[in-house]
Amino acid sequence: MTEHRHTKVLIVGSGPAGYTAGVYAARAMLSPVLIQGLEPGGQLTTTTEVENWPGDTEVQGPDLMVRMEAHARAMGCEIVGDIVTSLDLSKRPFTAQTDSKTVWTADAIILATGARAKWLGLPSEEKFKGFGVSACATCDGFFYRGQEIVVVGGGNTAVEEALFLTNFASKVTLVHRRDELRAERILQDRLFKHPKIETLWFHQVEEVKGADSPLGVESVVVRHTKTGALTEIPAKGVFVAIGHAPASELVKDVLETHHGGYVVVEPGTTRTSIPGVFAAGDLTDHVYRQAVTSAGMGCMAALDVERFLAEHGTSDADAASSSSAPAHSEA
Ligand SMILES: Cc1cc2nc3c(=O)[nH]c(=O)nc-3n(C[C@H](O)[C@H](O)[C@H](O)COP(=O)(O)OP(=O)(O)OC[C@H]3O[C@@H](n4cnc5c(N)ncnc54)[C@H](O)[C@@H]3O)c2cc1C
Repeated sequence: MTEHRHTKVLIVGSGPAGYTAGVYAARAMLSPVLIQGLEPGGQLTTTTEVENWPGDTEVQGPDLMVRMEAHARAMGCEIVGDIVTSLDLSKRPFTAQTDSKTVWTADAIILATGARAKWLGLPSEEKFKGFGVSACATCDGFFYRGQEIVVVGGGNTAVEEALFLTNFASKVTLVHRRDELRAERILQDRLFKHPKIETLWFHQVEEVKGADSPLGVESVVVRHTKTGALTEIPAKGVFVAIGHAPASELVKDVLETHHGGYVVVEPGTTRTSIPGVFAAGDLTDHVYRQAVTSAGMGCMAALDVERFLAEHGTSDADAASSSSAPAHSEA
């Protein structure tokens, strides 16, 4: 049977952006509800050590996300294990349908559905993810000081990651399946001039090889796309930089997006093209893509919602069906 519920603030997504929005919205007495999605805790649950979360010299990604969830819950954010399957943003209160057939209405929505790195799809890549295979040089480059690294891709991200990784690596090999890069010319010039970077044209990764105990990458086997010849390159790290896909399927037809689907927000805010709908974290960010920037945007989104509801009020349905929220925002 379909259940109908109302909330002042519906947060969609349970990564650093969603949970931080939950903490702030709860502390603003907005009684937020957060829908976790298919991956409770978000992308950081797929990694091991995180060394750039302020306050923790080293923390395991999944542990950090358990703590964020507990924090949001303790502040009074209701956390629901469900998936939003469709959104109607045409009028306020907005409507969200979920996988469990709950229909939520909400006076404001914070979208924090994140993004996904694109991967090569190799079983060996899967095996070494978090143990030598990464999609984030900013996150993991530091682990490969003095080591040889392979970067896969040919766009701006691949070239930027290769250049950034020269700060740590003894050598960076850029593997690209064509004989020209899609990256901007200025980046290409820097890449070709760099003494630590070698570019391997017409090659694609065939297999990532390494040790089982402890799990770790030792080399990458690449195949020449024309001749089929195989070459093994020694490497401790493999950075897959073939793009990211924002999780904007729910809203890509109704909200303004750019750079391949990232939700556009008004600069310096989390306001989207629909008043009352806010977006935070990797869903909006094709540049930084970090836990701390996502958390920062989650905070901004909750503060933006608070101001929006103070100005525009909450719906009458609030009083009728919410179990815990007061009838009108006191913000
Ligand atoms: C392997 C790896 C290692 C990383 N290491 C670091 C690091 O060391 N340091 C760092 O700062 N960053 C790191 N990052 C990047 C960091 O994880 C992201 O920048 C951050 O998680 C983005 O947070 P977010 O809240 O925007 O979204 P995400 O973490 O992507 O979370 C998105 C959330 O939205 C939910 N969702 C999606 N669709 C729906 C739906 N329809 N209904 C309901 N919920 C939905 C998902 O279930 C998920 O909970 C790493 C990323 C990866 C992949």
